[in-house]
Formats: sequence, structure tokens, C-alpha cells
Amino acid sequence: MSIQTLEIIRKRLEERPEELRQARKNGHKVVGWTGYNVPEEIVHALGFIPVRIALGGDDRLVEVGARYASSKTCVFIREIVGAFSENKDPYIQQTDILAFDATCLQNYRAAEVIEYFFKKDVVVLAVPRNFAEDDAKTYFVHEANEFTRLLEERAGRLLDNATLGESVALYNDIRKTLKSIYTFQAARDNVISWEEVYDLIQAGDLLDKKEYLSLLQQTLAELTELQHNPVIEADCDSRIFISGSLIPRGDRKLISIINLAGGRIVGDDLWSGILPHLDLDIKEISPAGVALGYLNRTPHAALPYLDLESDRRLKKLHELLSQSRAHGVIYHTLRYCDPFTFKAKETKNVLAKSGIPLLEIHTEYAGSDYEAMKTRVEAFIEMIRIKSELVEEEAA
Ligand code: SF4
Repeated sequence: MSIQTLEIIRKRLEERPEELRQARKNGHKVVGWTGYNVPEEIVHALGFIPVRIALGGDDRLVEVGARYASSKTCVFIREIVGAFSENKDPYIQQTDILAFDATCLQNYRAAEVIEYFFKKDVVVLAVPRNFAEDDAKTYFVHEANEFTRLLEERAGRLLDNATLGESVALYNDIRKTLKSIYTFQAARDNVISWEEVYDLIQAGDLLDKKEYLSLLQQTLAELTELQHNPVIEADCDSRIFISGSLIPRGDRKLISIINLAGGRIVGDDLWSGILPHLDLDIKEISPAGVALGYLNRTPHAALPYLDLESDRRLKKLHELLSQSRAHGVIYHTLRYCDPFTFKAKETKNVLAKSGIPLLEIHTEYAGSDYEAMKTRVEAFIEMIRIKSELVEEEAA
């Protein structure tokens, strides 16, 4: 069974680079952004075309990036730097302005390197480390206002609240529809896979936002027709939840290994997945209101927080695990991704208290660790399969 709208989306993605090229010829400007707290609604409301710069899986580009950024920089950022150096990625080629945030300091480093070596026009949004404090909110509102001012200069116009309100409403509708679609992938007798939904989420990083919303609504209508009432339950599958470092377009190594090993992915809290679309509540239509909505979401692992009991990242992970009825977590850490690597052990310990096993897979974009990863993933999936069958038997 296939969802026809997904085919349309694949085709639209093929056409998108040329469409951007034409839009730029007609005077539009493309803002390439990356980060966790970049308020995309502000970029959109100023009339820019936002595209997310997130690509991975190419070890050769990582090597190229290492000529400009330290070899201790995470492979994701090194690949991005490498891609700017080569300038062959069809989306990077079309960017006029870059908007990076400093949620992860390696992202901030990428902004510096790209500006310095490739002479790109980069706007950086500073992000407070102690995000839970009131002073941090004041600071972030100030930085968001400054970020808006810098983009206004480039747009040649001021941001008006009515347009910002329209952009916020559009993005809210996108998030709401994505959340509804996400329920279907985790359901019993699912008609759409997590992998298809994951690609669908990432398509939104690149497509025109109004068109994307319409395509999401079509997808949801198709799903509802095929499966009227999706029920999520812990069936006998090896239900896997993916957490940890982002998995951007171009990087599907771990996902394909899990699939080949017979695991069924039913959820994620990835920065490149559903997480940024959850819990974004913009209470006031202004740059400050948008900024605070972003800051109050589930925090990114790069922002330090020491009290495990009140850690909202861990609370969200528990909530999503419960919703998806996952049996175990595969925690993906990219080489030199310190934020997620440092949090692997504490995450494992916290989940162990709830009886949820976690396997950390530490990897990079080279294929040399493929077999070792496969062996470990297969063993983990076998372990949780046996465990879930025992639980089923005991319950019967
Ligand atoms: S969170 Fe990890 S993968 Fe992402 S930019 Fe930071 S170090 Fe790199």
C-alpha cells in the first residue's frame, strides 16, 4: 500500500532546486538556516525563502571540511563546511544569506568558518546556556530582536506583525498536521512507516511552506481513509525509538541497519525528526513572542542542565517512549558530537530505572564500522524481541 502524495512530494523535491533558481532570478532571496532555535517564522515573514541546511552521510565531504574546521569538530558540521567548500549541493548553491544559531557551539563555529573562508553573508542568533533562568529569557529576546533587525536590513523592509501572524499560523498548521501524521506510523497495522514520515518531515525543510502544508493535509487525508482509527500498542514487533545526534538527509546508515535487522522504528526525538515540531507554543505575535516559544520547547542536549529529576529533555523522552510503546532506544552519537555523547550514559541510567534498554551507537559517515554496527544492532533487537515476548507470555 502506498501513499500517493508521498510520490508527489518526491517529485516536487526533484524540481525544487530549479524552482529556487528561478525564484532568485525573479528577485527572491533564499535564507539557508541551521540550528535548533532559529525562528523560521521570522525568516518567512520577511519574505525570504527558508531552506534548512542539514546534510550528512558523505565521508568525503567530511574530509574536505576538515581542511577548514578542526578535525575534532563533529562530522555533521565538517560535512556542511565541506559542502560549502565544494558548492555542489543544489540547496547550498541557492543560498543568499545564512542564518545559524549558537544552540550548539559547533554550529556557531561552522558559521564563523563559512563566513571567513567562503565569504558568505551569515547572521548568527546567540542562545543562552542557562536557558531555564529568567535572565536567559531576557537575553534571548534581546538577541532575537537583533537577529530580526539584521534580517530586516537584508530584506530591505521591516517586519510587520500581521505578516508574522500569518507565518506563525502557517507553521502552527504544519506542526499540527505533522503530529497527526506521526501517530499513524507507530500504529498497529500501520499504512505508513516511520522512515516515510521521517523523509516527509525533512521534505518540509526544503519545499515552499504553503505547498508543503497542502501536501501534508493531502497525506493525512489519504492516511485517514486507509486507517480510520490508528491504535498504538506494544505488539510483538521489536519497537525501536531513535534518540541522540541528528540524522539529516543523505545519512541513512543506522536506519537501514535497524530495518535489515528486523527492528521497527516507531518514534524519535531527533533534532532532524519530530522533536522541533513539538510543544512550540507562540503566545504573542512579535519577535520576542516567537523567540520565547522556541526557548520554552524541549531543550537541546547542547544546553547544559544538571538536575536529572527536572530535566525537560528526559521528561519528553519518557513521554514519547510511552506514546510510541517502544521496547528499546537506539541512541545515535556522531563522532565528536559532544552534546549527545556526554549525555548517553545519564540517559541510559535514567531509562534503566524504567526498565527501558538503551544501546548507544557511536558512528561517523565512513562505512568502515558498518558490520560492527550491524552486529550490535542485531543483538540488541534480538534481546528486546525475546524480552517483549516473555512479557507477552507472562501477561497471557
Ligand atoms: S549537536 Fe552534535 S551533531 Fe549537532 S552540531 Fe552539535 S556537535 Fe554537531
